[in-house]
Amino acid sequence: MSEEKILKVLKDRSYFFDKGLCFECQRCGKCCTGEPGIIYVTPGEIEPIAKFLDISVDVFVERCLYPFQDSYSIREAEEGRCIFYENGCAIYPVRPMQCRSYPFWFQNLRSENMWRAVKKQCPGIGRGRRYSKEEILYFVGSSFHIFLKALQESSEK
Ligand code: SF4
Repeated sequence: MSEEKILKVLKDRSYFFDKGLCFECQRCGKCCTGEPGIIYVTPGEIEPIAKFLDISVDVFVERCLYPFQDSYSIREAEEGRCIFYENGCAIYPVRPMQCRSYPFWFQNLRSENMWRAVKKQCPGIGRGRRYSKEEILYFVGSSFHIFLKALQESSEK
């Protein structure tokens, strides 16, 4: 089944979050540090971030990224910390969709139990405004391709 078809099926279903979920990022950085992982940057996100940092695309790619699947991932410092996290996200206004869509990722919303487990890691869950089912599914859809790329990468190892 294509990615598009999967997303269409997901939209027509009922979920534990049909009435929405509350979330407001507390900028604690827990999701930007800890276990090493992929911080996927789409080809279209590269130039805006470089521009924001006031460096050339070539310098940004060489110093801050490494190749991942069809694009790049942001490098991490010691213990899995994103290199752009230093008492806050240094590229917050132009952060990649992977960061923008957290915690509303497909893998986090697969079940209510999974969501409860993520809530233990993210103090922003349960706070702030309520995101509607449609908004949540928008973020799930926008970040789903990253989940698939990570799966593909791990199956190739
Ligand atoms: S763990 Fe949650 S509250 Fe903390 S920075 Fe990440 S999204 Fe924000």
